Amino acid sequence: MTESRTEFRFVKPGEVRVRFAPSPTGFLHLGLARTALVNYIFARKNEGKFILRIEDTDVKRSKEVFEKDILEGLKWLGIKWDEGPDIGGNYGPYRQSQRRAIYRRYLEKLLKEGKAYYCFCSKEELEAERQYQMSIGQPPHYSGRCASLSKEEVERRLSEGRPSVIRFRMPSRKVVFNDLIRGRVEFDTSLIGDIVIAKDLDNPLYNFSVVVDDFEMKITHVIRGEDHISNTPKQILIQEALGFSHPTYAHLPLILGPDRTKLSKRHGAVAISEYRKKGYLPQALINFMAFLGWNPGTEREIYSLNSLIKDFSLDRIQKSGAVFNIKRLDFLNGFYIRQTPVEKLTELCIPYLVEQNLIEPVWSSDKLYVKGYKIVATGKTIDFNYLTKIVSIYRERLKKLSEIVELTDFFFKEKLDYEKQLLKWREMSEREIKYALARAEKQLSRIEEEDWDREILQEILVREAEKLAEKLKREGRGYLLWPVRVALTGKATSASPFEVAEVLGKERTLRRLRQAIEMI
Ligand code: GLU
Repeated sequence: MTESRTEFRFVKPGEVRVRFAPSPTGFLHLGLARTALVNYIFARKNEGKFILRIEDTDVKRSKEVFEKDILEGLKWLGIKWDEGPDIGGNYGPYRQSQRRAIYRRYLEKLLKEGKAYYCFCSKEELEAERQYQMSIGQPPHYSGRCASLSKEEVERRLSEGRPSVIRFRMPSRKVVFNDLIRGRVEFDTSLIGDIVIAKDLDNPLYNFSVVVDDFEMKITHVIRGEDHISNTPKQILIQEALGFSHPTYAHLPLILGPDRTKLSKRHGAVAISEYRKKGYLPQALINFMAFLGWNPGTEREIYSLNSLIKDFSLDRIQKSGAVFNIKRLDFLNGFYIRQTPVEKLTELCIPYLVEQNLIEPVWSSDKLYVKGYKIVATGKTIDFNYLTKIVSIYRERLKKLSEIVELTDFFFKEKLDYEKQLLKWREMSEREIKYALARAEKQLSRIEEEDWDREILQEILVREAEKLAEKLKREGRGYLLWPVRVALTGKATSASPFEVAEVLGKERTLRRLRQAIEMI
């Protein structure tokens, strides 16, 4: 058996050209975005070009919404392409559906040279063949029934309009290539059979169009998911048949769910737009995706896109599947949230509050800018500054932007809805709770409006809490601080009562304390 070998191709840094080639048959998901990211980093690192190519030859399954989602998702992540369907480039068009004439030329060449042939076998015939092969323990493959039809016979059948496809005459040999991640990879193509490369001259299939495009677009490195590794020997042989050079390949390990099966919808969110909706920041996703199957070999965990371009390398990518760990993504997201200036963070949080109908933007009379926000429940207007105060006391706790709603909704409510049981700290009796709240209310009502700030509130409430503990002959400040905090927030966990009271303001704080007293 002869052997096909592709060696690493040496390309000067400036000549590197890589591509991300999604099919717009679904939303941009984590696996695809990771492939795009690695290609992008590789291009930048090597001062090369990153090309976006839309593989939409499957007309039935390709949809414009998916293409839009893919482009928007990449932009949001900060992954920019140098050539692509929206910006053009020297090797366009960048949408396969617009490149049919190019594929046709190469298909005709293969047919003419006898390296491809028309096949007229019907579905039923192929199915019967498949069943037979399996029954005798052979892997199913095309037997080559139409491989030796005479030219005249083919012409006759074509002119009769018999349904046909175009098959590639697969050479039987060992294909060996050096994968930048997996090392030496070997395939025996004798069991593959002659694959269909086009439905007809105008409708090529994936393995064929990809080979033509990678060549025509001067792609030097094909970096893609491991699910494509079995396509690589087929593509290498098609390249040989067309007299093309081979790109260098790198197959990224699969992303696995916590149960170590291939990551899918079953494991929760996979679409990038879903992560975006939940309030993950692009920086966190980038950092997270880079670590799917890669690590820098140090303890360092925080990597911006720019620092990845410096430190990321394909040779530190593992071969085994990369297990997806949502806790890590949450950790990174919390980190990037804390890094975000509070004004910016507030801007990012506002849409979530608006979406939940807690606040509503108030537009200037010319509808050009938002001059404030209305609290829907009370009708009261607040400004952006006020919202930054709310966000700032929760910045430490936020792991996802969407959590802002659950954490801070009590600021936007007229009356809180909670069980009075929640006001109880340890063994407190109702009488004691009432007493504690009344003490707090009395002391706080004495503070002047202009002194209403966190430090003073803390000083006064802590002093009262200590006095109360002494009176109750118990230990700890919780006997006062817990019921006060619950009265202000209606929640078992929240920011401290001082921070909350400061932002609520004197009037609302006292009102909430009184409402709690009345409840008991
Ligand atoms: N259109 C293919 C996909 O979406 C591209 C595979 C490749 O990179 O060659 O998986």
